[in-house]
Amino acid sequence: MPLMVQKYGGSSVADGDKIKNVARRIVKARSEGNQVVVVISAMGDTTNKLLELAYQISAQPKDRELDVLLSTGELVSSTLLAMALEDLGHKAISLSGAQAGIQTDSSFSKAHILRVDPKRIADELKKGQVVIVAGFQGVTQDRDITTLGRGGSDTTAVALAASLHAEMCQIYTDVEGVYTADPRFVPQAVKLKKIGYEEMLELASYGAKVLHPRAVELGELYNIPITVASSFVDKPGTIICKEVSMEIRNKVRGIAHDTNVAKVTIIGVPDHPGIAMSIFEPLARADISVDTIVQNASIEGITDLTFTIARSELTKAMSIIEPISMDIGAKRCATDSSLAKVSIVGTGMENTPGYAARMFRALYEQGINIQLITTSEIRITCIISEDKVRDAIQILHKTFELDAT
Ligand code: ASP
Ligand code: MG
Repeated sequence: MPLMVQKYGGSSVADGDKIKNVARRIVKARSEGNQVVVVISAMGDTTNKLLELAYQISAQPKDRELDVLLSTGELVSSTLLAMALEDLGHKAISLSGAQAGIQTDSSFSKAHILRVDPKRIADELKKGQVVIVAGFQGVTQDRDITTLGRGGSDTTAVALAASLHAEMCQIYTDVEGVYTADPRFVPQAVKLKKIGYEEMLELASYGAKVLHPRAVELGELYNIPITVASSFVDKPGTIICKEVSMEIRNKVRGIAHDTNVAKVTIIGVPDHPGIAMSIFEPLARADISVDTIVQNASIEGITDLTFTIARSELTKAMSIIEPISMDIGAKRCATDSSLAKVSIVGTGMENTPGYAARMFRALYEQGINIQLITTSEIRITCIISEDKVRDAIQILHKTFELDAT
């Protein structure tokens, strides 16, 4: 019997009726002759509510306690779904991440899965049960509960699909698939039937919220086809899989945007060996990931250093950077937290000149100033003012003929 892993996001299980709707969908998958393992997120915005609660109690709750607290959201939804399935006459059992054999490292709030021991799940499947696993959590070797970071249930689902050798991992959410751009910004955006892991990973990493980048990475590593579809309608979504094409590659496949961006400039930095290290090492130790880094050519041994980070980490980052910039003899620091990233992604850009120039011209003709630029082989990202993001996405969608994909 083929095995499917299905994941339902928070909005798909936001209330009792929605949980019953999910139960009916699972029954359908069963009646089509599949074994089903379900990964579930916490109901609606439960995780945010739990976080608020913690910060009402304490300004600095301990990571370990926070992880146990947040893991309870997924326990609630998984048990309710098991009850709904039993009511429909199907045997079902809910398991916490720990019970499901998900072993992680001990980085609380951003744990990585080290291994999955699927024995318990396999045993329950043999008994004919639908197995419902609480997403986004695992357990360390010392039996501490961990969580995988916000949005981590996608990663749980793909990890289980890999370790159980499932046919497919189906991610159900409140959108109908992966679009060429955010349809709220571009009404002409088109739902993609299929997209390769490489392109999906760039889109997800640069702001497409539909799927967590770590899940895409795992899917690629273990070659698990992932579908993204809506739990509210019966329509095919988008398949993310290995795309086999010899030479015909996609031009621009999609546009991602991210408004969680802040820019930091350290002005008047003495230009000598060790300076970049003394700034970026402490940021790395504080687990702040730095994206674009630009260092100006130095004039008389003095330079400016600019980089971007997530806006949500700006306060924490500045508490580290300000004392360091004094130490290294920089003049001052400036920050800007009203920026956004807009990226075009497509494997066809590799080895084909002209995409960057077209992107820059389109933004120029729209009167949009580009502050910073970064690229990968299949992506070009411009950092622009946040209030221009809608205009930028719309013009790029038109320029790269995505309306007609
Ligand atoms: N409930 C967690 C969150 O809201 C995990 C998830 O939904 O994937 O981030
Ligand atoms: Mg969620």
